[in-house]
Amino acid sequence: MNIMTLKNVKAFYVLEYWGEKRTIRAVNGVSLEVPEGEIFGIAGESGCGKSTLLKVLLSSIEPPLRLVEGKILYRVNGEERDVSSFKEGELRRLRWSFVSYIPQGSMHVLNPVKRVRDTFLEVLESHLKGEERRKWLSLAVEHLKELGLPPEVLTAFPHQLSGGMRQRVTIALATVLRPRVILADEPTTALDVVAQRAVLQLLKRIHREQGCTIVLVTHDMGIHAQLTTRMAIMYAGKIVEEGPTWEVFKSPLHPYTRHLIQSLPRIGDKSPRRGIPGNPPSLVSLPPGCAFHPRCPHASSRCAEEEPPLVEVREGHRVSCWLVRV
Ligand code: ADP
Ligand code: MG
Repeated sequence: MNIMTLKNVKAFYVLEYWGEKRTIRAVNGVSLEVPEGEIFGIAGESGCGKSTLLKVLLSSIEPPLRLVEGKILYRVNGEERDVSSFKEGELRRLRWSFVSYIPQGSMHVLNPVKRVRDTFLEVLESHLKGEERRKWLSLAVEHLKELGLPPEVLTAFPHQLSGGMRQRVTIALATVLRPRVILADEPTTALDVVAQRAVLQLLKRIHREQGCTIVLVTHDMGIHAQLTTRMAIMYAGKIVEEGPTWEVFKSPLHPYTRHLIQSLPRIGDKSPRRGIPGNPPSLVSLPPGCAFHPRCPHASSRCAEEEPPLVEVREGHRVSCWLVRV
C-alpha cells in the first residue's frame, strides 16, 4: 500500500528578472510511489532537485515554486486522496500529525530565542485537545525518554546544545505526534561522524518503534546503503532509477547510479575514487534526449535525441536508460 504517490509531477521555480522569465525545472515529471513502512531514500548530486521533491511530497509549494502539472496523493486513514481536494485548514492539521518535515539545515529550525520546551508546547498546543493538551509536558518528556534523549534538553536554549543534539531534538519534535510519514532532508549533513551515527540510530529507532514511513534525502550513498530499504536516484529533476536498495547497490542499472556507487570510499582501498566527469546540466536549459547523455560513457545517438522512459525492468526496479534492455 502506498502512503504517498506522485503522478507525473512537474514543479518549477519561475523567476522574473527585469521582465525576463527563467524557469528552473527542479522536479520535471516525477512519478513516485512511496510504500508504507519503508525507509525510502532519495539520492543524487547537489542541485538535482531532491529538496524540491521533498517540498512536493509535503505539498508545500509556494512561489517562486509552482506545481505546473501532475498529482500529489496521500493515503490518510486508509483512503487515498488528492491533496488538491483538501479543504481549507485540512493540510495544516495533517502537518506534524500525518506528515512531518525535517528541512535541510534544520539544526537552525528551533527558535533561538525560545527554550526547547516552548517550541514543543507550540506544536502540541495546536494539535492536542482536552486532557491530552493539559498533559503536553509529560508527553514531551515521555517521548524524549523513549528516544533515549535527556528530557533536560527541554529547559535549554538551542544554542546551548551541540549541533548533533540540536538535530536529534528537532527530530524528536517532528515525531512527538507520531506522524505516519517523516520527510528528512540531509539530516546528517554538516555533522561529525559521531553525531551522524547518533542521528541515524535515532531515525532507525523511530522507524522501528513508531512503524512510520521515512523519506530520507541525502547525497551520501553510504547512508542509503546503511539505512534505506528502497531508493530513488535523481538526475536533473527526474528519477533515473528506483528499486530496493540492496538491488540498486548489487546490480545498478543506470550508468549514473553506477558512477555514484563507484565514487563511494571503500575500507582498505586507497586508490583514488573516480568522480563523475563533467557537471550536471542547467535545469534552465536541459539537453535534448537523456539529460545524462553528455556525461555518459556509453551514450549513443539515440540518447542525444530521445528521452528514455522510466520502465520497470525487474519487479519493483525501474530505470530510464536506452542501454538497458527489458
Ligand atoms: P538538491 O536538494 O538536490 O540540491 P534543490 O531541490 O535544492 O536540489 O534545487 C534544485 C534546483 O532548484 C537548483 O537549480 C536550485 O538552484 C533551484 N532552487 C532551489 N530552491 C530555489 C528557490 N527558492 N528559488 C529558485 N530556485 C531554487
Ligand atoms: Mg537539498
